[in-house]
Amino acid sequence: MALPNYAYFKGSIVPYGEAKVGVLNHALNYGTAVFGGIRAYWNGDSEQLYLFRPIDHYKRFLSSAKLLCMEFDNTPESLTKVTINLLKEEGFRCNAYVRPLAYKADEIIGVKLHDLQDEIAIVSLPFERYVSNDTNAHVTFSSWRRVDDNVIPARGKISGAYVNSAFIKTDALRSGFDEALVLNEDGHVSEGSAENIFMLRDGVLITPPVTDNILEGITRRTAMELARSELGLTVVERQIDRTEVYICDEFFMTGTAAQITAVTRVDHRPIGSGQMGPVTTQLRGVFEDVVYGRNSEYRHWNVPVYV
Ligand code: PMP
Repeated sequence: MALPNYAYFKGSIVPYGEAKVGVLNHALNYGTAVFGGIRAYWNGDSEQLYLFRPIDHYKRFLSSAKLLCMEFDNTPESLTKVTINLLKEEGFRCNAYVRPLAYKADEIIGVKLHDLQDEIAIVSLPFERYVSNDTNAHVTFSSWRRVDDNVIPARGKISGAYVNSAFIKTDALRSGFDEALVLNEDGHVSEGSAENIFMLRDGVLITPPVTDNILEGITRRTAMELARSELGLTVVERQIDRTEVYICDEFFMTGTAAQITAVTRVDHRPIGSGQMGPVTTQLRGVFEDVVYGRNSEYRHWNVPVYV
């Protein structure tokens, strides 16, 4: 992966090589940082790069920061503006990924959250697919459990908590799967290593509630809204048992990186026919039109970079 050319660092856009922290950096040592992930989609017809729902992403980013007792003057709007300037500087004419990071910047020994220097850094880079088999992924139930709200809150995108995701993902990939699903301590399905999940049973789309140790995904919210308004589906938030997944009709994962990834096998069992189903296929099509700014109804989610 090529490195970015620029970074937003300590309040200004600098060459990427100048955006550095020391080895004693608090966030590096203790995981005391929060991050985001935002996609920008290049629409070749209108020669425009559209950030997808950056205000919603930055609202969640600042909420995550709040969980770590961070205080910033920045607003979702001001961070979106910085991001636009950064993308303009990079001059991308391709799909891109934006990675904001808020971190405890002190170089000290001592575990705590308060009375530390909080900084924000943002970088962006070209980005295409995250899950390579995004029309026919084979996933497994991880032997790991999801971090609990009273351990490290999953609703905050907290860097240290992603060691949990890394355990889950590495074991799945090394066992030959494309991704993994993870259970809560009570045995209910929470999410993927970096994706929310949806199952279709008897025509109803079901996803775990925000109280089941999930990250409150922006793509999850998008998929729910599009499923209701464009596909006319009933969408229900409720707990999901592991074995419901084995017998459901369709299953997909959502995430900024994963977009809408169709899961066609779970633990060697075919989902439905074992092929991507009609609802997932239709939703992926609607989603693609929306993120590339081709559906005027949802244009408020597309923030143009080059104006
Ligand atoms: N769950 C986890 C653990 C994630 O890391 C992500 C990716 N940000 C998601 C769900 C999906 O969230 P979003 O749609 O906002 O990218």
